[in-house]
Amino acid sequence: MAVLLTNGKHYIAHSSTGAVIKVSDRKDAQDFRTAERAVRQKQKAPGKCAGFYCMDTGMEETEPGARKAAAAKRKKFSAKDRLAVYRKTEGHCYLCGEFVDFDSFEVEYHMPISKGGTNGLDNLYCSCATCNAIKRDIYPKEFMEKISQIFLYQMQKKYGDSLDWKVAYRLLEAMLDRKREG
Ligand SMILES: [Zn+2]
Repeated sequence: MAVLLTNGKHYIAHSSTGAVIKVSDRKDAQDFRTAERAVRQKQKAPGKCAGFYCMDTGMEETEPGARKAAAAKRKKFSAKDRLAVYRKTEGHCYLCGEFVDFDSFEVEYHMPISKGGTNGLDNLYCSCATCNAIKRDIYPKEFMEKISQIFLYQMQKKYGDSLDWKVAYRLLEAMLDRKREG
């Protein structure tokens, strides 16, 4: 996870001499670590940072500009496109498995556009409205962690006193930790 300044195309970085520069490769971008520090950078170099907004790579964008920029890149899908996406999972939501009518399914970006995902068929999936609303534009991995966290928390609230549940809970938690490390 990193907090970057981007205009959707370039990133703010620091040169070896400490000067504020623009780079096009995300891996060269300066990680400001907190939104506060990123905003301070913008205030220090308003000219060079004009049009740049703060982006938390692990979460949703901290400024609305990023969402707008991503929305602009999203494609309007033709009926043919939609059918191709729908057929990939034969009408089942790729996140929860539920069957969705062709008229009501939503095209889900597996890797969000705001995180570098494309409009290509390999990045698009059939989703039910609920899952689409929950996932929004977070990373697939973080979505899985979030729903696992909700599940674990709700189960703990409900079955917290049961010994069996406590064992299962610890196992699941260990699994998640391993996934996070890997
Ligand atoms: Zn679903």
